[in-house]
Amino acid sequence: LAKGMGKGGWQRYQSDLAHAMVQRLELRTQLHEAIEDEQFVLQFQPIVELADQRVTGVEALVRWQHPARGLLSPFHFVEAAEENGTIIGIGGWVMREALRQFAAWKAEDPDTSLRYISVNVSPRQFRAPDFVEQVRSALASAGARPEWLLLEVTESLVLKDAAKVVQDLRALRALGVRVAIDDFGTGYSSLSYLRQMPVDVLKLDKSFIDDILTSRQQHALVDAIVTLAGNLDLAVVAEGIEEPGQRIALDTMGCQYGQGYHFAKPLWPVDIPALVAAARPAALSA
Ligand code: C2E
Ligand code: MG
Ligand code: MG
Ligand code: MG
Repeated sequence: LAKGMGKGGWQRYQSDLAHAMVQRLELRTQLHEAIEDEQFVLQFQPIVELADQRVTGVEALVRWQHPARGLLSPFHFVEAAEENGTIIGIGGWVMREALRQFAAWKAEDPDTSLRYISVNVSPRQFRAPDFVEQVRSALASAGARPEWLLLEVTESLVLKDAAKVVQDLRALRALGVRVAIDDFGTGYSSLSYLRQMPVDVLKLDKSFIDDILTSRQQHALVDAIVTLAGNLDLAVVAEGIEEPGQRIALDTMGCQYGQGYHFAKPLWPVDIPALVAAARPAALSA
């Protein structure tokens, strides 16, 4: 890498690197006061039924409204927050705010096609001793029904320390909360292993969807996963759908749900109700 850069290039490279490291360290230390100052905001991305494109769910996605650096995506801070433990406070806020917002949408429009809200839970947050209790109390204070909540957890969570995790997953399901494996296919779990886990939904990672129209192998692989998941009574959400052809191919495979820029990007809460109403079959045929 340094070869051919020349001395000036190498020095610039080193100072850029140092600058980037300082910025990352700065962000990391600012996470604590960001929680106290409530600098986090949520966007929501629609999840649709592939067959009729009705919006039946939304995923809450956190952003950091940084006072100096503007709106930051999770890419810039979630890993650091996981490392220094601030993800527990951030995740708690996300859970409460997502449920509050969802309950408000249900109250505003009792006929809404919205049935559930998906909330990402980091491994560290899930492993907090009182996580199940946190979920229960967040539901209660939002006046939200447990059936409305879908928790997205990672493959790595269910692979490690399985006994404790399974016990908590069972407790959550006993409440009526559902659980999804996020980014399925990027970790090392197998479907047969997952079937022993008390989970309801697989979110098939975008990297699997990207090539289904261009690679016969990739198409066959996704087709097989969707079929097997169906036989195991797991619902499937395809992530990162960007083209109409991908929606059609996945629908034909029997994949029930999809999410991606083809339908909608993550949106501010004010923009959700109109989009949901416009995608209702009655509205489409009217
Ligand atoms: P994720 O849970 O897999 O969320 C989907 C990500 O893919 C989102 O990025 C979304 O904007 C993006 N996406 C959706 N459709 C498309 C598409 O068609 N094309 C492309 N290129 N991208 C698409 P985002 O919002 O930047 O979030 C990134 C990750 O950060 C999330 O991946 C999730 O792992 C994490 N994250 C977001 N919010 C939270 C949170 O509240 N708590 C925790 N622990 N993690 C979160
Ligand atoms: Mg997710
Ligand atoms: Mg995902
Ligand atoms: Mg993903």
